[in-house]
Amino acid sequence: MDTPYLLVDISIAVAQYHRIAAAFPGTPVYYAVKANPEPTLLIELVRAGCHFDVASRNEIGLALAAGADPVTLSFGNTIKKAEDIAYAYAQGVRLFAFDSLGELEKLAVHAPGSAVVCRVLASSKGARWPLSRKFGCAPEMALDLIRWAAANGLDPAGVCFHVGSQQLDPGRWEPSIADAAALFARLAADGINLRLLNCGGGFPVDYQTEVASIDKYAKAIDAAVASHFPARPALMIEPGRYIAAPAGVLHTEVVLVSRKSYADEPRWVYLDVGRFGGLAETEDEAIQYRLSTPHDGAPTAPVVLAGPTCDSVDILYQNAGYELPLALRPGDLVRIHGTGAYTATYASVGFNGFPPLRTVLDRADRADRRAAG
Ligand SMILES: *Cc1c(COP(=O)(O)O)cnc(C)c1O
Repeated sequence: MDTPYLLVDISIAVAQYHRIAAAFPGTPVYYAVKANPEPTLLIELVRAGCHFDVASRNEIGLALAAGADPVTLSFGNTIKKAEDIAYAYAQGVRLFAFDSLGELEKLAVHAPGSAVVCRVLASSKGARWPLSRKFGCAPEMALDLIRWAAANGLDPAGVCFHVGSQQLDPGRWEPSIADAAALFARLAADGINLRLLNCGGGFPVDYQTEVASIDKYAKAIDAAVASHFPARPALMIEPGRYIAAPAGVLHTEVVLVSRKSYADEPRWVYLDVGRFGGLAETEDEAIQYRLSTPHDGAPTAPVVLAGPTCDSVDILYQNAGYELPLALRPGDLVRIHGTGAYTATYASVGFNGFPPLRTVLDRADRADRRAAG
């Protein structure tokens, strides 16, 4: 098969769903559709009982087309067009996130009576793919916004936050849970009884190095909730990467192996996929994927790994210490593991004439689908 392509094994994503659902008993799992919106994946997650975090009109459409009940959707993006809020509401979506007065004003008009959840700023220290201050508001502001929601025909349900993606520190949720508990307590004094705590995503997967088990994260979150809340709120989580990443293997081919001088310096290895072909998360070498080649086990030497386009930022790794076999030649297949999340949809539409990354379902999945009609 022509490379590059992303081979996705949906059964692995479904197993990841069951693993995280088991680690958080009684907590609904909202899959963050943006991680990988592959239609067959969404169908299988609906069957498994998963809920969905959606960020746009099209993601709502995809989840509904996969058979999701609109009441299992959370419109978690805090930046929504009024007409997209109206669309979501007309489709039956009744759970929305906000972090500003401007967004609440839109929700009050276009999603009256809906449950709304205030996103509070959170630290993403410890995350390999941190989130900036783009989302969330300070707790002091959250207090006023939630009061405004209650006074303007919305149903203030609770608080949400996100501690950054590929978060390696299981303790990173605790400060945000403490902030949320303080908000619950102060609002209860006003007669506003929040009930929902959305702990977001961020749960990490193994790339080159092994991360703590999902149970460690679940235990840390459970302990933080127990210590800060006098009465346990309803919880929800929104994993994206944790469910989708392990399900994908990007298949790519070596285009060129070269050197820049006669001095002993790293070889440059150019693949037929790069930053613009789906590997956007290699920016700043943040996500360091595990690679395998047909020469694994043979002697290796340091390399700079780059993509095929004519943009000089199209370099995957030059400081992370990657080594590849000396026997590597053009035409050799390189597998990039753990690439099921944040790849296919990040690919450019055709920079330099390279088409977007194709997704190919694992043969077993395709056979199942045929059998199911
Ligand atoms: C992207 C996103 C997620 C998923 O984050 P992961 O780090 O992939 O688990 C969850 N919630 C919201 C609101 C998001 O935007």
